[in-house]
Amino acid sequence: MFAIGYRCFRCGKTYGFGKMKYRCECGGSLDMRYDYVKIRRELRKSGAEFRKQQPSHWKYKIFYPVSRASVTMGEGGTPLLPSAGIGRQTGAKIFFKMESANPTGSFKDRGSAVEISRAIELEAKRVVCATTGNMGASVAAYCARAGIHAKIFVPDNTPKEKLSQILAYGAEIKHVRGTYEDAAIAAELESRRHYFLAGDYPYRGEGEKSVGFETIEQLPTTDYIVCPIGNGTLIYAVWKALKEMKTVGLAKKLPKLVGVQAERCNPVARAFDKNESRIEPIMEPRTFADAIACGNPIDGLEALSALRESKGFATSVSDPEIRSAIKVLGSEGIYAEPGGAAATAGLLKLAKREKNVFAGKKVVSVVSGHGLKHPFR
Ligand SMILES: *Cc1c(COP(=O)(O)O)cnc(C)c1O
Repeated sequence: MFAIGYRCFRCGKTYGFGKMKYRCECGGSLDMRYDYVKIRRELRKSGAEFRKQQPSHWKYKIFYPVSRASVTMGEGGTPLLPSAGIGRQTGAKIFFKMESANPTGSFKDRGSAVEISRAIELEAKRVVCATTGNMGASVAAYCARAGIHAKIFVPDNTPKEKLSQILAYGAEIKHVRGTYEDAAIAAELESRRHYFLAGDYPYRGEGEKSVGFETIEQLPTTDYIVCPIGNGTLIYAVWKALKEMKTVGLAKKLPKLVGVQAERCNPVARAFDKNESRIEPIMEPRTFADAIACGNPIDGLEALSALRESKGFATSVSDPEIRSAIKVLGSEGIYAEPGGAAATAGLLKLAKREKNVFAGKKVVSVVSGHGLKHPFR
């Protein structure tokens, strides 16, 4: 294992790997650090064999902070599907990264595989998690497989399909009045009672990096990756993966990242557009895209850095724009939940501008979650 510790994204303080840490003393979120010199050396040894393997989640284990895949359900290795239709509308070559094809229907499974593997290494007996729905379903499934009790805190507006999924995996549900932020506070409090805290903390993002690793291997000439932003964990994970591949010599030119938020819950896009270095929380997120309704994103600063460092940009989409993207995806045989169609809604919106940045480019849109989780009406 090549992880060496944590660094606070806000104040820069570093910690060793020894103890499980969720957050910095200053309240900032923590980023995992690795010994990239050693990773590079290791990859040089196994280079030919590594290259031969198909892109898959555990192919990139060298970049995860766990010693082995203690729990797995065949997550990742999802198709990169060329668009059959919207290329013409947008003047771009569009590909869909089909995260809806994961075991529980969203990319959260990549994070859960690593996070719950770590919980097993730490011999955790109980796991607690706050969720807008998908993370809870994913954590519940991986805990079920590992024989670990899962307690899931959900906000009021969680779609009943997602609740049924969590219950089917045998987890305990705790309803919280309020938003995702209120559920997150409740879960953090509960974790003090000898629970392993699952969520957008250091381990999950490390697992979600594989969306980036796979995309670059599937299409090395990608110009843009369009991602939804809720807590910002996914988009930062994708950017970290790209940078890591460059650091160890697996990638040369990196794509730009485009972050998409819901218009009435867009703290990261706002901070990006106003060129601010802090994120102003949104107290009452209003969107039917529950998976991205995070008013005070845990990894907001990380998401902002991904947009800036990659020289990308952000955009916001309305609920009707998301609704129409669901139909556009449907016309290609793809069924996405609202959060899962947000990236495509942003892509379609930006391509309609006078200066279409996507013209002639290869653009990957992340379809982050399956439509059956939140049926379209
Ligand atoms: C979690 C989730 C998102 C948002 O990802 P973050 O890592 O919170 O930014 C988007 N779409 C779907 C379907 C999700 O489950």
